[in-house]
Amino acid sequence: MISCLQEDKVRLQEELNATESQRQALSSSPQSQLEGLEVKLSDQTQELNKLCSELGTTDLEKHLEILVLENDRLKQELNGCQLQLQQLRNSLSGCISCEHSKENTLLHKQVTDLQLELGEKVQLLTELEQHLKDVLQEKTDREERLNKRLRDCHLALAKQPTSSVKYITKKVEVESSRTKQDLEEAQARNHYLQEQIAVQRRLLADQEQQLQDSWRTSAQLQAQIMMYEAELEQTRGEMLETFQAMEDEKNQAIEEVFLQARSEMKTVHENLNGVRMNLLSIQPALKTLTSDYNCLKNHVRDFPCLLQDAVNQTKREIYQAVEEAQKTNQDLLRKYKREMQLRKKCHNELVRLRGNIRVLCRVRPITLEDGTGLDTRNIISFDDDDGVLYVTHRGKTTMFELDKVFQPHALQAEVFQEVQALITSCIDGYNVCIFAYGQTGSGKTYTMEGSPEDPGINQRALRLLFGEVAERSADWDLTITVSMAEIYNETLRNLLAKDPSEKLEIKLSPDGSGQLYVPGLIQIRVESVDDINKVFELGRVNRATDFTNVNERSSRSHALLIVSVTGVNLTSGVRTTGKLNLVDLAGSERVGKSGAEGPRLREAQNINKSLLALGDVICALRSKQPYIPFRNSKLTYLLQDSLSGDSKTLMMVQVSPMEKNVNETVCSLKFAQRVRSVELGTMVRRAEKQDYSSRQDYESESPSTAAQQGRLNISHSGGSVVGKTTAGKRRLMASGEVNHRPAALPAL
Ligand code: ADP
Ligand code: MG
Repeated sequence: MISCLQEDKVRLQEELNATESQRQALSSSPQSQLEGLEVKLSDQTQELNKLCSELGTTDLEKHLEILVLENDRLKQELNGCQLQLQQLRNSLSGCISCEHSKENTLLHKQVTDLQLELGEKVQLLTELEQHLKDVLQEKTDREERLNKRLRDCHLALAKQPTSSVKYITKKVEVESSRTKQDLEEAQARNHYLQEQIAVQRRLLADQEQQLQDSWRTSAQLQAQIMMYEAELEQTRGEMLETFQAMEDEKNQAIEEVFLQARSEMKTVHENLNGVRMNLLSIQPALKTLTSDYNCLKNHVRDFPCLLQDAVNQTKREIYQAVEEAQKTNQDLLRKYKREMQLRKKCHNELVRLRGNIRVLCRVRPITLEDGTGLDTRNIISFDDDDGVLYVTHRGKTTMFELDKVFQPHALQAEVFQEVQALITSCIDGYNVCIFAYGQTGSGKTYTMEGSPEDPGINQRALRLLFGEVAERSADWDLTITVSMAEIYNETLRNLLAKDPSEKLEIKLSPDGSGQLYVPGLIQIRVESVDDINKVFELGRVNRATDFTNVNERSSRSHALLIVSVTGVNLTSGVRTTGKLNLVDLAGSERVGKSGAEGPRLREAQNINKSLLALGDVICALRSKQPYIPFRNSKLTYLLQDSLSGDSKTLMMVQVSPMEKNVNETVCSLKFAQRVRSVELGTMVRRAEKQDYSSRQDYESESPSTAAQQGRLNISHSGGSVVGKTTAGKRRLMASGEVNHRPAALPAL
């Protein structure tokens, strides 16, 4: 803003200078004209004087009058000029303060001087006029005298003789002609002078015209000057206002800064005082510090030696401590390993005591969907012993004894509680199998899969494993993978594959370890419940591919969920691999003798074959037979690793409590009883005898006797309702030579 104003100011200054120079030029122009006029006037005055001196005639008088008039007119013009000059001066008096005004004053002074000079000239002219008058007067006197003399001469002439008159006349004539000649010359000269005067007048008129033009230009310039001056004044006013505002701002800022500085100064003073006080109080402390510093300096000088000693000492101590810690560590590791072994041993002992193969029974509740007919009556009852149930049919009550019986009201969580320890042991590297066995509709899928709101063993097992993995994460790096497979018509299919119809083969591991593996069986790593749900959903969708009704398929095929847990102990580096096989078996119901043909018959044969093979394998394992017939079915062959050795098996036998299902219920319970009552060994039997002495009725045969019954070492406790079958028949069934669910199966 200021720079802009300054630029404006410079520009206006330049314009003013230009205007002033113009004005000066113009003012000098009238001045010079005036001077010229005055010179001309003086010339004319001289000329007039000259004429006056030369002419003593009447014409000269006339010229004189004319010149006087001219002079008067010039005087008037001069006065006019003076007046205008005065006005100009008055108008310029507004800018007296500026430099141009000074020049103007100077010019004015010059004009005044010229006026004075003009006055003097006028005075001179007046004197000349007076002189002219005197000359005229003298001329008049001379004329009078001449006239008088002439009259006297005429008179004397009249008196004089004619000769003298003639002489005089002749003389006069001679003198008169001379005078005439003089007169003519004078007239010619006068004429010439008049012409000169006319020329001078024209010049004068031109000069006047020029003067007037100059005055007009001067007036215009004056007006412009005034306008510029007004603008200049306005700009100056604005600038002054701006300067004033800036000045005010500056003053205000200065005031504020001053106040701030004063307050800061005050604070600084206060601080200074505080610092002074502190300084005073610090001084003694400084002295102490100085002495301490000196003392420390001495210490520092000695410090490297002391430090070296201390470092050496500390090193020795650290080495010692490390050695001790290593010793302790090794000791602890040894103890830990011993404890782990002990734990494993205890666990094994516990499982051995309970039996590596446990048989549980779950009785499903009667629901509204089952209807209210006579055949839906309940035929199963229980007592205080949770390992016993009674089936009452046609007035007969048969007792069945198992490792545990879950009544219809048992919750999913309660069932899971019972199998929990088994599932956990797979983290310790054990292989575990849990089978759900029973007729279609007895609750196998409910127990294994459950509903989304109340999940079964499958999902609960994985959740438990996730919890265990997290709990052991400080010591173990554990990984959980899952596979899902289905065995239908003795064909193994991968339920997590893109093409679930593709058949899978079970092969011996090429590493010569004797282990089995299934090439192409997909394993998916799972880390959360979400992962499990996704995997289950995929398995469910793939299982339903070929069948319009999922239940139809599920009742005729075995569904396997294979969970592998591999772990590395972070301390000892020990590696473990455990496998948990959760199997929802095909329906165990018998197919009607007449209705079974074609594909259904083949399905039934395959189901019979595999379930029988499973029973045979379990019995053979339980009785520690040297030959275990794993290869009799795809199911047992696939689960060979998880059934043999120190693996653990749990059979959940599902039964329906309704009268209409009595045959299948009894068949399933007989199967359970058969598997369970296989000789376990002295210790278990002893324990059982102690616990359940009342059941000795059912433990009728010793292991050795039982072994003689056939290749399966089984006992025949319970199941007395259905008739016994010979070992020969059993063999037939085991090789799949019968085409329906063997009636002999419960007798096993
Ligand atoms: P399966 O798999 O043996 O053919 P499901 O598990 O499909 O039998 O069970 C058949 C029906 O009985 C289903 O509707 C299921 O919900 C119901 N059911 C089975 N067990 C129970 C139980 N313990 N509590 C409630 N309902 C059950
Ligand atoms: Mg089912």
